[in-house]
Formats: sequence, C-alpha cells, structure tokens
Amino acid sequence: MRIDIATLFPQMCEIVLGESIIGKAISKNVVEVITHNIRDYAEGRYRRVDDYVYGGGFGMLLQAEPVYRCIQALKDSFRGEDVVIYMSPKGTRLTQKKVLELAEVTHLIILAGHYEGVDQRVLDLVVDEEISIGDYVLTGGELPALVLVDAILRCVSGVLPSEKCYLEESHNNNVLECAQYTRPKIWRGFEVPAELLSGNPKKINKWKRESSLKITQEKRPDLLK
Ligand code: SAM
Repeated sequence: MRIDIATLFPQMCEIVLGESIIGKAISKNVVEVITHNIRDYAEGRYRRVDDYVYGGGFGMLLQAEPVYRCIQALKDSFRGEDVVIYMSPKGTRLTQKKVLELAEVTHLIILAGHYEGVDQRVLDLVVDEEISIGDYVLTGGELPALVLVDAILRCVSGVLPSEKCYLEESHNNNVLECAQYTRPKIWRGFEVPAELLSGNPKKINKWKRESSLKITQEKRPDLLK
C-alpha cells in the first residue's frame, strides 16, 4: 500500500511517521508513506498558495491550481487505482468500518487543508471522499491526516504482529473491548478476575464477551443498537 499526504507542513507529518509502530512499518517497507509540500507545485517567486476568500470572510483559502497540480502529479506517479481523500470538518465522520475499507486501497492520496480550507472547485474536481475526524475544527489537516494514516496502517497486513491485534479491539463488531489486566495478580488489594486466571479458554472467552458487552452498554449504548 502507498499513501501520499499533500500538505503545506510535511515536516509536521514526518516527525510522527518516523516514530513507533508506524515508523517501523515504513522503514521495513511494509507500507510506503510519502509527504509532499503543496508549495512545491506553486508558481512565482514566492510560491504563493493562498488568497483571500471571495465574498468576504475571515482568513485565507488554499488556491485551486497548486492543489490540483500536486494531486495530479501524485496520481500520475503511481500506476493503478487511487482514492483521493480531503480531510475536512465537513466530511463524513471516520469510523473503524471506513478504516478497514480504506486499508484495502492500494494508493491513497490524502489532502490536508489549512487556513480557512481549500477552493471548492479543485475539491469538486479531484476529491473522491471528504473525511472528518470529529465534530470540531482544527487549524490544519495534518493531524487529521495522521490520525487516518495511523488507523489505516495498523490494519494493513504485516504492520501489527497479528490480525487479532485489531480485530479483537474496540469498534470491531460494534462493541468495545473487554477490561484487561496485567501482572501482578493482586495490586493494592485489587484482584484480577478469577476467570482470566482459570486457564479454561471457554470460561475466559465467556468472561471477555460479557465484560465487552457490559462496558459497551455503560459507555456507548448507541453501538449496541
Ligand atoms: N473553514 C473550515 C470550516 O469551517 O469547515 C475549517 C477549516 S480548518 C481551520 C483548516 C483545515 O483543517 C481544513 O481544511 C481541514 O483540512 C482541517 N480540519 C480541521 N478540522 C478537521 C476535522 N475535524 N476533520 C478533518 N479535517 C479537519
């Protein structure tokens, strides 16, 4: 899988992408994630990428042409199908179901907006989907793009030690994960549930399922509907 991130702040992304599990997967070539500076696709001495908003309003907008050229260059650089995503508070809210769907795509191009956003004409022309990471507004699309990349990559084969790592987690099958414990067996007088220490897989699985449903009912009853 290859992911291209089009942004005005590639370094912001590179710092995060170089670390931990995602950093390891990239350095071992399990996945390819490349950041691109939209400014490199702007013309003129100052490589200007933003301008005032028609009709008034506060702030600046990313211009259509540099964004168009950047996305087009990324599309041309890879043979095969691509999906272009614009990170936007106006987009469809991200879910684990969408994450699993996107983990199957061979080439993903993610556009991170900035300022007041991006000229609508280029969005209409090149973007396949708009995705939001929640109902709030951030200063730029870099953090949302990284959230999306992290969520997707941990579902790509070879990134985590096993598929089980993400298939048995919260938000798969519309339930939250069960409570979990590690050593010691007794900590400050609090004991690990006896079922988990029983060594009996049937008992353990039953306990896990019940714990998972209880937690979902308490914290996110909407998921059970
Ligand atoms: N003026 C826009 C609006 O009201 O919808 C918000 C622009 S925001 C300040 C700048 C950029 O941050 C957006 O273009 C988008 O890429 C990104 N962004 C902000 N909040 C986001 C969210 N909740 N989900 C995804 N992207 C977001």
